[in-house]
Amino acid sequence: MQRDPRFDVLFEPVRIGPVIAKNRFFQVPHCNGMGHAMPQAHAAMREVKAEGGWAVICTEECEIHPSGDVSPYVEARLWDDHDIPALRLMCEKVHAHGALAGIELTHNGPTASNLYSREVLLAPSHQPSKYGYPAQARAMDKRDIADYRRWHRNAALRARAAGFDLVYVYAGHDLSLAMHFLQKRRNQRTDEYGGALENRVRLLREVIEDTRDAVGDRCAVVLRFATEELLGEGGVTMAEAKEIVHMLAELPDLWDVNLAAWYNDSVPSRFAREGAQEPFIDWVKKVTSKPVVGVGRFTSPDTMVSQIRRGILDLIGAARPSIADPYLPKKIEQGRIDDIRECIGCNICVSGDNTVTPIRCTQNPTMGEEWRKGWHPERIAPRKSEAKILIVGAGPTGLEAARALGQRGYEVHLAEASAELGGRVSRESRLPGLTEWARVRDWRLGQIKTMPNVHVYRGSPIGAQDVLEFGARHVLLATGCHWRRDGFGRSNGMGIKGFGSAAISTPDDIMDGLIPDGPVLLFDDDYFYYASTIAEQLCALKRRVYYVTPDDTIASWSSNTLEYRHIQARMHALGVEQIVSSNITEFKGDRVVLQHVWSGQNSELRCTSVVAITARLPQDALYQELLSRESEWPAAGIQSVQCAGDALAPGLIAHAVYAGHRYARELDEAPSGDVPFRRHLHTSFT
Ligand code: ADP
Ligand code: SF4
Repeated sequence: MQRDPRFDVLFEPVRIGPVIAKNRFFQVPHCNGMGHAMPQAHAAMREVKAEGGWAVICTEECEIHPSGDVSPYVEARLWDDHDIPALRLMCEKVHAHGALAGIELTHNGPTASNLYSREVLLAPSHQPSKYGYPAQARAMDKRDIADYRRWHRNAALRARAAGFDLVYVYAGHDLSLAMHFLQKRRNQRTDEYGGALENRVRLLREVIEDTRDAVGDRCAVVLRFATEELLGEGGVTMAEAKEIVHMLAELPDLWDVNLAAWYNDSVPSRFAREGAQEPFIDWVKKVTSKPVVGVGRFTSPDTMVSQIRRGILDLIGAARPSIADPYLPKKIEQGRIDDIRECIGCNICVSGDNTVTPIRCTQNPTMGEEWRKGWHPERIAPRKSEAKILIVGAGPTGLEAARALGQRGYEVHLAEASAELGGRVSRESRLPGLTEWARVRDWRLGQIKTMPNVHVYRGSPIGAQDVLEFGARHVLLATGCHWRRDGFGRSNGMGIKGFGSAAISTPDDIMDGLIPDGPVLLFDDDYFYYASTIAEQLCALKRRVYYVTPDDTIASWSSNTLEYRHIQARMHALGVEQIVSSNITEFKGDRVVLQHVWSGQNSELRCTSVVAITARLPQDALYQELLSRESEWPAAGIQSVQCAGDALAPGLIAHAVYAGHRYARELDEAPSGDVPFRRHLHTSFT
């Protein structure tokens, strides 16, 4: 297919100092939970994006010295020459596909931990460490400032030796000394590095100059700069940011601009749409003649073109869109717009970094598996047999299994009981703010539509006898799960007295439109996104909502997806009353008995309606019946029956997509053994 000429502008080369990006697609730095600990996995992940057409591929933040150690988080590292080979590997893989490699150097100052290095934390002025470690950072003296500049310069030289083409000076996300010196709340110095803005900018200017001096002959110097922290006067404000950009306008070769902190930058789709950063960065290009890159979870080529044409950006920055679809540029180039797997803005990718585990993605089940499983986002082994496959259930598990098996060339039959396809994805995407989640369904249906070997049957509830009579060699049961009504969950292993009746609603009821009368008590023993989305739904329907949880805060797991602050703000804006550290011991029809988790004291709260968000049960009756009739399989021509996704063990949509994909990859393949992936084994003990 041909590229639409409308998008030609996206494929123009852009000069960035001494280097040239072959097009305008720029993978900005993003964390991935692999970093220096898993260099081969990291390099393979970046390589796939270079292959997919991104002109520039960057690392995540890269520590330059042990006194800026961010453990337990695993990022890139250039402390000394020992760290060069791991990053050289990435550069080689990126260069092999004609892309440029960029590295984001940083010293985290008071936002480091030094839990591993045991060095004393450093900061512009004395202050507590940001992330709650029981230690303070000490004020840097002039010698420390000179040391910091030397470490940064040496790291830049090592980056050049590793093969990088772009070297970042990082003043973003509240994660770098160069930014900490700008912030009034962190910098109370009275010397030439504190006080007036000119002084607070001094170190940033010096580090940019040092970097240019060290590597500017061959590498572009990029300044990543936060234009707003949304913290008022203590933070970088847009007014001050404008002055800073004026002061440094022509100093870097490229401006990479965004919001700080990370939760204001990578905002989930529930709280920010594509291009949401524009009002915070649209003035930068007017101040500098240097190219500007920015982000906005851009997945639509029309939006990208508009950013260029309207003079907002020169390069289309992307982290999440490049994770969901490493081949996004290539698909635009080849005129395959419908093939783009658009990011849904769920931030499960971010949770990898926050839980110190390899990155994963709801939309792209191959993310993070490029090296350890050899999975490629676009390629999959052709079928190994003529087998006919029956898949029961068209939720994310069934849809992804059908799509990937279809891609392999198998004859696939996908049967769905309901008239609507998509299972939980369709249902959850109707909850407030989650519209974009429907992309999980829509992309897969779009792909399946082009596959004559995949047959989809809606409105087709399947029973065990149907399966036995169908004539499939392999059967996948992807029949999903349902929420429990009995109160069983993390906090109540025996259920809750008075629960289980129709007076107790579940998220399934709410998604089915069965809305209880208010006031409604939401009992959240799940700790992620469900309770707050249901609270929003109920508020929109004018119900008064009490949000009760045995946890010490609402939605605690959502801090891993950067949603926590946004959820809190919204719950407060909606007037949802939070009752935390409180379990429910009994529902009496017109009131609940609450028990404080720490004091043990009981109290009563009047309410006639309760929504229990506690635990789910697999819908696996069909699987169990088929297992009990295993003796009938040979006569029916069935070789295997498997259950996967929420029907096996309820989890995230990301788990379901992964389960469906894995089933498709492993069908007719040799068993992978007890450890089904490669590991980085540190076998050298010298
Ligand atoms: P998952 O997340 O694992 O894909 P979902 O709950 O999203 O699970 O989807 C399961 C789908 O399976 C639902 O759309 C449901 O209607 C369908 N389903 C469940 N039981 C049957 C059945 N016996 N026959 C056909 N479809 C079924
Ligand atoms: Fe987008 Fe979610 Fe994938 Fe992250 S995990 S890239 S937010 S779809």
